[in-house]
Parts: sequence; C-alpha cells; structure tokens
Amino acid sequence: MSVLVVRGALAVVEDTGRVRTGDVVCVDGTIVESIDLAGVDRAGATEVDATGCVVTAGLVNAHHHLLQTAFRTLPGTRGIPMREWLPAMASAYTSAGVDPELTGLAARAGLAEALLSGVTTVADHHLTWPSGADTVGMARAAAEAAAGLGARLVFVRGAARDDPQEAAASADAIVRALLPGVHGGVSADGMLQVAVGPAGVHSDPRETFALLGEVAAMHGLRRRTQANEVVDVGIALERYGSRPIDLLDEWGWLAPDVTLAHLCAVSDDEIARLAASGVTATHAPGCDVPMGWGVAPVRRLLDAGLAVGLGTSGGGSNDAGHLLADARLAMQVSALVGPQLPASEVLGTATAGSAEGLGRPELGRLTPGSAADLCVWDVSGVADAGVADPVAGLLWASPGRRPRTVVVGGRVVVDEGRLTTADEHDIVAQLFERVRR
Ligand SMILES: [Zn+2]
Repeated sequence: MSVLVVRGALAVVEDTGRVRTGDVVCVDGTIVESIDLAGVDRAGATEVDATGCVVTAGLVNAHHHLLQTAFRTLPGTRGIPMREWLPAMASAYTSAGVDPELTGLAARAGLAEALLSGVTTVADHHLTWPSGADTVGMARAAAEAAAGLGARLVFVRGAARDDPQEAAASADAIVRALLPGVHGGVSADGMLQVAVGPAGVHSDPRETFALLGEVAAMHGLRRRTQANEVVDVGIALERYGSRPIDLLDEWGWLAPDVTLAHLCAVSDDEIARLAASGVTATHAPGCDVPMGWGVAPVRRLLDAGLAVGLGTSGGGSNDAGHLLADARLAMQVSALVGPQLPASEVLGTATAGSAEGLGRPELGRLTPGSAADLCVWDVSGVADAGVADPVAGLLWASPGRRPRTVVVGGRVVVDEGRLTTADEHDIVAQLFERVRR
C-alpha cells in the first residue's frame, strides 16, 4: 500500500467553493478520509509539509495544442487575422516536418511546463497530420512523453482539412494501438485517454464530423471541437448560410459527450440550446483575447447550467501553457462581458469544470474517492503578504506563480519546484535542437 500525507496546509480546496483545513491523505493514488488512516501502516508513508501553503486539486487544461509548444512567438503570427495566422502556422509546420519525433519532443516540453505550473492533466487537441505521416507513431510519442513525466494526457485525434476517411481510420488505429481492449477511451490507470475532435465547422466538412463521431461511438470516446471564434462564425455563414451551433446541431455534435472550446460569440438563444443539449464548454481567454475573438460569456454559460472548463489553447496564439495564469486572465476579463467571476469559481473551471468535459469526475477535486492529483502552492512569500483570502489570492496575487509540490496519482512529480522524473534543461535543449532555434 502506498500512502502520501500532505500536512499542515493553510487551506485545502476540496471542490469548487469548498475549502477546509487539515491533512490530505492519499492511499494507492486515491484521496481518502483522514479517519481511514486508523488501520494504515504509516511508517513507509511519504509526507509533504504544506505549512503556509494552499492545497488544490491538480489543474486540468481542457484545451491545448501541445505541438505548438515548438512554434511559440513565430514572426508573422501575432496581431493578424486568423485567415493569415493559419497559413503562417501551416508553413512553419511544413518546414519543421511534423513527425513522431517532433510531436514527442513538443509534447514533452509542453507537459513538463504543465506539471511545473500545476497542471496534472492536459487535453492535447492535435490538429496537424501531414499526409502519409505515421499517425499512430505521433500519438504514441505524445503518450510516451506523458508517461515518462508522470502527467495525465488526453490525446485528442483532431483533424483540420484532413481527408475524412483517413482521419477516421487513423483515429481508430490510434485507439486500438494506445488503448488495446479498452472501451470508454481511458486506460485502466487513468493516465491516458483518447478522444476525437475536428478543428471546427470552419475547417472540416460534415463527413469528418460524422466519421470521427462513428469512431467515438464504437470505442466510447469523448468528442471535442472548437466553435464560435470569430472566423468560425464568419466562414460558417459564408459557406453554409448557418451559424456554427446550427451546423453542430444538425451534424449530431450537440450532445453530453461533446465539449466545445472558445464559444466567444454566442447568443442567449444559442446558450439555451447548448445547455439543453448537455454539451460542455471550454473557455480559453489566453487565446481568444490576443486573437481578438472577444470574451466568452462564462457567467451566462454557467448560469444556463453548462459545465465550463478552462484551457490555454496552444503556443501559436498563447505562448504559455500556464493554466493558473489564464484563470487569472479569465477572472479579469469576465468583467467586460458581465459580472466579474469570483476566484473560487474560476479555479473550479480550471479543475472540476475541465474534468467534467472529459467525462472524468474523479479528476479536479480533492474529495474522498478522487484521484490523488494535487498541488501545494506556497503563499508565504512577499507577493502574498497582506492577502486576506489565500484561495482568492492564488489567482489575484502573484501572477505566474508555480506550485512547490505536484502529485499525480499519489506520486510526487514536482518537488521544490523541480521535475522529479526528468531534467528540465534536457527537455528544452532537445526541442531547440530539433527545431534548430
Ligand atoms: Zn484551440
């Protein structure tokens, strides 16, 4: 039996808006009630001192494009409309050559960054599949990067103007290779999940949505896509004379197993339809704001009853995979489109809200029975001096803070701010070497 005890925290955020004090006890990778310890041999237990710290669940990044970690701050990708951004990124992918090696190195860097900033689960919406590429090899490289670091990965077999038949065949092959014999899309240890996701109605035809949907139904996978960025609405109107939500509805993609990222320009009527369908949402302000797409009406989505998660999106638009920084941004910009969201509720989107969209209720919470994924945030430094509410301070104070300790499935993967599973500098050097920068 493996036991880990986190002691002496100033505050433990168990669930959205539920804060307590006391220890956090994990047995064999699961959070248990402290009283369960009575019969447990604690001699071999790992102890984490959380004096002066806030403990939260590990953050869940519901929308990332890990490949873009290799393409941050590229000249010609900032301050331009998405119609120009897409070909600029595409030409960078082509000249670098997207293959299993690059996919693995970019994922390794992005996932290391995730863990070091408190993100224990990343949904990687992979959209770049050069024709003839070893797609199973690419997916496997990302999965191996996650396994090597001790991070949880949700690999989303995306599509962006791919041949629909090829995309579906590749998605099917990826599930069979990465999760042999599994129905439901999640490995037995919960460390790897596979999902499918066309880039959006602006990019992929009805056939791609239909065929990837069939693969999802066959293997019990979650479905994910992007909707209602400005360009998505514009192209949908131009091409089909309909708005993206109407198309997704017609194409069978408004359902409880579907998560829609972005949702910037949605009307009240559309929000009501989304809520009635059971679909979930992912807010990605760290991408939406710099791309000029606006601010998703998170308050109205939550009030309508949608589960809302938080994602960073990728390095092509948001050069950081630091989800807590984007939680701070989400809170700040929420006041532009309605009442300001409280810190506790935004933290809830970055944890339990994201997990709900992945169909993973065991993630994003520290209630008994939840997965033992947690972060220990030191709030004793000068940037937190004078803070009245240490949980609100997690988001409001000390921008860019990193956790001292990160635990995934009961295993310490970040200790004193350093990876325990890999050398950060090697990861950086290998990626720079591969992209020759
Ligand atoms: Zn995105």
